[in-house]
Amino acid sequence: MGTRYHITVVDAPDGVDRESVQALVDSELEAVNQEMSTYIPDSELMRFNGGPVGQPVPVSAPLAKVVELSLDIYRRSDGAFDITVGPLVNLWGFGPTAEPEQVPAQAEIDRLLAEIGSDALALQRNPDRLTRKRDVQLDLSAIAKGHGVDRVALLLEGQGITNYLVEIGGELRTSGRNPDGREWRIGIESPTAAGQVVHKPVRVSNRAVATSGDYRNYYERDGVRYSHSIDPRTGRPLSHRLASVTVIADNCAEADGLATALNVMGAEAGLQLAEREGLAVFMLVKTGNGFQERYSSAFAPYLEESES
Ligand code: ADP
Ligand code: MG
Repeated sequence: MGTRYHITVVDAPDGVDRESVQALVDSELEAVNQEMSTYIPDSELMRFNGGPVGQPVPVSAPLAKVVELSLDIYRRSDGAFDITVGPLVNLWGFGPTAEPEQVPAQAEIDRLLAEIGSDALALQRNPDRLTRKRDVQLDLSAIAKGHGVDRVALLLEGQGITNYLVEIGGELRTSGRNPDGREWRIGIESPTAAGQVVHKPVRVSNRAVATSGDYRNYYERDGVRYSHSIDPRTGRPLSHRLASVTVIADNCAEADGLATALNVMGAEAGLQLAEREGLAVFMLVKTGNGFQERYSSAFAPYLEESES
C-alpha cells in the first residue's frame, strides 16, 4: 500500500506471541495487496482490469465486498467517490505512473471523463461476479487501506485479542481499552497557519477513523497545488478550500471511502450528506490566514471530554 502500519496489542491470550501475530498480520496484508493493489501487475484487481468486458467475471469475496461498498458510496455521494477514476489519477500523475511534466490538456481530460463511471459496473453477490459493461479500470486506492485495517482487526480478534489499535497509513480502528486501561483517544492532525501541527483529542473506542486531505499528498506546478483526489465530475484534482476530512465509522473501509467522498464533495455538500445520514465528520477548511473547523452533529460527542 506504499505506506507503513502500526499495531498496538494491549494484552493477548496465553500462547499468542508478538512474532506469530506479526507473521499473521504481514501475510494478511500481502493477501489484501494481492487482491486489490494497482501496483501489482498480477493482483486480482489488475487481472480483472485486463479481463473480458460485457460478461460476468468470478471475483473473490473480499474484492466483491469492497466493490459493493464502493458502489454504495458512489451512489450516496452522487458520483464524487468513483473507483473507475484511475485513468484520470494516472493522467494527473498520482497513480503507478510518475508525475506529469505538465498539466494535462483539456481534450485528454474530456476523453477520459467520457470513459469513466461506476455505472459501468454490475455486481452480483453469492456467487460473487463482477461485470464491466464498458472498458473501465478499477482503482481501490481510496478504500483499500481502510479495508486492510478491518482485515487486521478481524485477524487480531480471531486470535482472542480484544484490546488493540490498528493503524495503516493514518487510517485506524480501535477496540476495547488502551494500555492505561482507558478508552482509546487519538489526535486529529490539524495544521496551523504557522506550519505547526496540533493534535485534537478524540475519544474513539471500538470505532474506525480515516482522514482524507491534501496537505500531505500533493504536488505543485507553477505555484498551484494539485491534490491526489480527483473530482470525477470535472476530471481535475480538487481545487476547493478543504484541507482535510476525518470520518468516524464502525468499520475502516467505510470511514476511508467516505472521507475521500466527502473531501471531493467539499464542505457544504459534504456536511449536508453527513447530517442527512448521521455521519460523524470533522473538516478543516482553509481560510485566508489558517484553518476553520467544521463538524457534523454526530461528531460532537467524540470531542467532548469524558472520564473513563
Ligand atoms: P486520501 O487519504 O486523501 O483520501 P486515499 O489514499 O484514501 O487518499 O485515496 C486517494 C487515492 O484514491 C488516489 O491516489 C486515487 O488512486 C484514488 N482516487 C482519487 N480520486 C478518487 C475519487 N474521486 N474516488 C475514488 N478514488 C479516488
Ligand atoms: Mg480514502
